[in-house]
This record gives sequence, structure tokens and C-alpha cells, in this order.
Amino acid sequence: MAVQPEDQAVTKERNPYRIVQALLKEAVQTLGLPYDVYEILSYPHRFVEVNIPVRRDNGQLQVFTGYRAQHTHVLGPAKGGIRFHPGVTADEVKALAMWMSFKTAVAGLPFGGAKGGVVVDPRQLSLRELEELARGYIRGLAEYLGPHIDIPAPDVGTNERIMGWMMDEYERVVRRNDPGVLTGKPLILGGSYGRAEATGRGVVLCINEAAERLGMKLRQATVAIQGFGNVGGHTARLLHAMGVKVVAVVDIEGGLYDPEGLDIPGLLEHAARRGSVAGFPQGDPITSKELFQLDVDVVVPAALENQIDAEVAQGMRCRIVAEAANGPTTPDGDAVLKEKGIFVIPDILCNSGGVTVSYFEWVQNLTQYYWGEEEISQRLARQMKNAFARVFSMHREMQTDMRHAAYLVAVRQLAQAMAARGMIPPIG
Ligand code: NAD
Repeated sequence: MAVQPEDQAVTKERNPYRIVQALLKEAVQTLGLPYDVYEILSYPHRFVEVNIPVRRDNGQLQVFTGYRAQHTHVLGPAKGGIRFHPGVTADEVKALAMWMSFKTAVAGLPFGGAKGGVVVDPRQLSLRELEELARGYIRGLAEYLGPHIDIPAPDVGTNERIMGWMMDEYERVVRRNDPGVLTGKPLILGGSYGRAEATGRGVVLCINEAAERLGMKLRQATVAIQGFGNVGGHTARLLHAMGVKVVAVVDIEGGLYDPEGLDIPGLLEHAARRGSVAGFPQGDPITSKELFQLDVDVVVPAALENQIDAEVAQGMRCRIVAEAANGPTTPDGDAVLKEKGIFVIPDILCNSGGVTVSYFEWVQNLTQYYWGEEEISQRLARQMKNAFARVFSMHREMQTDMRHAAYLVAVRQLAQAMAARGMIPPIG
């Protein structure tokens, strides 16, 4: 079914919440589902705002704003990361929570979607201030969290160490051991092998699946990556280990380009020491804009939303865009990529490796039985291949692009659960 005129107007949209609502509406229409499905899923089930006072090292009190959105529980407890970034907004958090619902549905996991965020630049805080903020956030939200309610995880600006503090704070509030309340924890506190690299590993598995189907020899391919944090860094490391040339990398402070391939292990060491790829003694400096225009086989946006707009997309020359970040392509950028025949692995499929291993971590916490690294890696590969195959066959069957196909898979799954719960009439 054609997109309604109001959705077409959305193509210049930059608000991620409106963008994901339009993608949802399109999927509901194509599947011929009752409009109620859109009505229910286009808003978060719950949205909480908290104020978090932090005593700065200079003695002053600063109050930070935090959010948590729980989108839907129809497939299971809500699940999603916590972002610490100065650009966090209520609408961004709501959008990211919706994306999580669609991602877990595409991945075939028994979770709904959630997301949290705090408006803060964590690089401006000392370690002590950061810990106070992390603990304050969890205290403010503890009553809405739990292994059967809502299970946070790391996202931009948060990491394993912060998850350790947050789990500890939650357990102090509820006065019991409850490691399944969040994932991405340190191994010693019930974390899982392979969680830190899971999103990157999933991205690489997806690129591999796409390359196979497009007849591209991945080992001879060149790759450019925007963002060199958890996701971008691990993606680069794993591709490099496979013998793939990562020729360009950009982060918030700078970028490097070497057509012969960057020394990724050296770059990772440098970035861990200096907090950025800037200053690494190899390659030519490059900006994000330039990176997207490179003549490479695969481009991996692994930073933030709205990086590939129509203008950027016009100049892109790659065959595959692997959306490691959430929402990196704007609707008008997406239309241009489609026109140019660039194969897009959509975010809700491409970066679902992280939540998949988070699911494994949660299962291990609930059963108190822990798996080895090999088992995690094999299970992740199986899940990702299955998810990719589900989306790819929908893409073929419906003669549609991979993004719309992924939404069709996800929304159908959610609608089936809603019908089984009696929230909407039975669906065909
Ligand atoms: P991170 O904070 O570890 O890294 C973010 C990287 O992006 C950093 O290298 C930063 O310098 C860079 N960056 C930020 N703004 C930039 C800009 N304007 N231009 C160029 N580079 C910029 O975050 P992460 O966990 O790697 O997350 C990256 C993306 O992946 C986000 O969209 C996130 O939501 C998504 N994601 C993360 C996970 C996960 O498990 N961490 C899972 C799924 C999706």
C-alpha cells in the first residue's frame, strides 16, 4: 500500500521520533493491520523524567535531567541502553525506545523496547562525579526497573564500569542480589563473555551476509567507519582480523584515511590512551563528510543519528551501508541511497548483536548458569544469520528495500503478540 501524503512530507524530517513513527505507519499500512496497532505503538507505554543532583568537585551542585522511555511490553520486559550525551532529548529517547522494540522483534528476542538518556557530556565529569550521576539516575528510576520490567544496558557515553555502579545502586535500593536488572556489566558481576564486542560482531556478521548475497568478496573489500567507540572500534578490529582493509576512520575529534589500510590494532591502542583517533601517526586527516564520499565497498556509520542526509548520500560511492548506529540515515538520505541502488543493512537489524548478547547475559543471570566465550559467539552468529535471512526474504518477497522489510518483520511480530493478548482483534 502506498505511503499516505502526510508521510511523504516527513522525508525532510530530522526528529528521530517522527521518523520512526512514519516508518511504523508505513509498515502497518503495508501489512494491512488495524490502525490501532499504529496508535498503540507510536507512543511509549511509559516515559519518566528524573532530576539528578550531583555535587561537583568544586563544591557546586548541578542538577542533570534524565529520561527513561519504555515503549512496549507485549513481547517481554522492556530492554534498551542508557545514553550520556549533551544532545539527548525526550524525543530522541522515545525514538530510541521504539527502535529497540523493532530491533528485539527482528532479532526474535522476548523483549520490548526501552531507552534512557541523561543530558550530560560525560567527558566533562570526573570519575567521582560520573559515579554520583550514574547512581542518582538509577535511584530515581529504580521502581520502574527490574529483570522482568525494564533492563538497561550501555549506549553512547556509558560503559561496563558505569553498568557495574548502576547494578550496585539498584541492589542497594531493592536490598537483594539481582544481576539480571541490567546487562553489559563487568564479567565479575554477572556480565557475559562477548557482550562488549557483541554489537560490532553482529555488524560484521551482517556485512558478511550481505556481501555473500551481493557476490562481493569481503576479504578483498575496503571499509570506512564513522565512530570509533564501542561499536565502531570492535567492528574495525574484527574486520581487520578477517583481513579486510579498514581504510578510513573518523571520530568526534578527527579522522584518518590510508588507502592501503589503517593499522587498526595500533589505532585501538592509541584511541584507548588518548580518547580519540586524532593524533595517530598514519594516513591523511579526513572529516566525516569526506569519509562518506570515499570510493570504498562498505561504509559503516557507527556514531549518531542523521549523519547521511540527501546531500551526503548523493556523493556516496559504496555498495553497502551497514547501519551500526541507530538512525544514521535521514529519510531523504535513505531515498537517495535507494535510488542509487546502494544496499542498506538497516539499523534495527545491523546493530542487533548487542541486544542479542544482552539477552544471553540476562538468561545466564536468571538461571545462574554461565556460558563460555565460544558458546556465546556461536549462538550470536546463529541468531544474526537467522535475523538477516528473515529480513532478506521479506525484502525479496515484498520487492521492497531492507529497511521497510525489517519493519514489516518486526511490526508483524508485535501485532501478533498484541492480537494474542486480546489488545486487537485476531489478525490473518
Ligand atoms: P560510543 O560512545 O562508545 O562511541 C561513539 C563514537 O562516535 C565515538 O568514537 C565518538 O567520538 C563518535 N562520534 C560522536 N559524534 C560524532 C560525530 N559527530 N562525528 C564523528 N564521530 C562522532 O558509542 P557506541 O556504544 O559505540 O554507540 C554508537 C552507535 O551505536 C549509537 O548510535 C548507539 O545507539 C548504537 N548502538 C550501540 C550499541 C552498543 O552495544 N553500545 C548497540 C546498538 C546500537
